[in-house]
Amino acid sequence: MVVGGGIGGLTTAARLRAAGWDVRVLERADSLPDTGTALGLWPAAMAALDAIGIGDEARLHARRQGTARLLRPDGSRIASLTRADPVWLLSRPPLLRLLHKAVGDVEFGVSVPDVRDLRDYDLVVASDGLNSAARGVLFGDTYRPSYAGATAWRGTVDGDAAEFTETWGEGARFGITPQEGNRANWYACVLAPERQRSPGGEADAVRRHFGHWHGGIQRVLAGISEDTLARNDLYYLRRPLPSYVDGRVALIGDAAHAMTPDLGRGACEAMVDGVTLADAVATFGVDAGLRRYDKFRRGRTQRMVRASLLVNRLAHARRFTTLRDRLLGIAIR
Ligand SMILES: Cc1cc2nc3c(=O)[nH]c(=O)nc-3n(C[C@H](O)[C@H](O)[C@H](O)COP(=O)(O)OP(=O)(O)OC[C@H]3O[C@@H](n4cnc5c(N)ncnc54)[C@H](O)[C@@H]3O)c2cc1C
Repeated sequence: MVVGGGIGGLTTAARLRAAGWDVRVLERADSLPDTGTALGLWPAAMAALDAIGIGDEARLHARRQGTARLLRPDGSRIASLTRADPVWLLSRPPLLRLLHKAVGDVEFGVSVPDVRDLRDYDLVVASDGLNSAARGVLFGDTYRPSYAGATAWRGTVDGDAAEFTETWGEGARFGITPQEGNRANWYACVLAPERQRSPGGEADAVRRHFGHWHGGIQRVLAGISEDTLARNDLYYLRRPLPSYVDGRVALIGDAAHAMTPDLGRGACEAMVDGVTLADAVATFGVDAGLRRYDKFRRGRTQRMVRASLLVNRLAHARRFTTLRDRLLGIAIR
């Protein structure tokens, strides 16, 4: 039983079905989402998509990231980063459509408030995301996500973005990436109190924060509108779970290790979790397989939660930004 038909849950279900398992997927939403911004898919995530047979199709729809440039608000360069192994950019709706096709059927519109009701299944995969009900019932309220102190706006605008740029200022950051379909994907983060909303509208708030930044950002701002952007406060799992497994229930993805999006790795790690878990139980049986899954994935993903938060703090520093930028310029060449 897979609880949550998001990125991690569908990856797990596809891999388990390919290994001959009889799998049900229960998803709370009524259907797949039809809007969403680009996700950066790192090599390990592409390997997970290859493992379930949809890597090539994903590459066909996705954009290759190329060189990434880190800039100051005036447009001057802090650092450039070129990776030998490519990162691919694909937005959430086509990725979920591909994953869904690989799985076959998903039972939409079914919410699971308590995974302990699913005791009769050989294996329960809790892939119910950031506010995981499964995490709550198995590990308690101590492991609720914490607010990271920053909020993010995201959206897409018409017209291509030639390259990936991220611009770091004081307590604020703006990213632009290419996206499939001749569109540019953008995101903007600032330090803010939790659940704050902008009375004059979110598009205006983004323009107010970033309207004086460099020309590339101003071109994006000219194309944004209230109905093409979303605002999310950023959360992460401050207290690391003592285990990703409880009996025959395994937590994966954000349910296990929600992280701030600063390394662009949450969805990638959810897919790697899914393939690792499915392969481990298919090879070693449920109990030994779950132990291996926990052993291979917990330390690594919990380190990534900490590393993402560190980048979040650096990117949103309010002081010593000249020193920060100089050090980054030396460290990343
Ligand atoms: C601003 C921002 C930018 C990001 N950028 C990137 C990026 O570039 N690259 C990257 O790798 N990651 C990125 N992420 C992170 C990524 O979105 C998440 O880590 C990823 O979606 C986690 O996948 P998941 O399968 O664990 O959870 P989700 O994708 O959230 O799926 C959980 C699913 O479970 C369902 N569900 C929830 N509760 C229940 C229930 N009780 N019963 C049944 N179903 C339920 C939900 O409806 C949902 O479909 C970003 C996140 C944010 C906020």
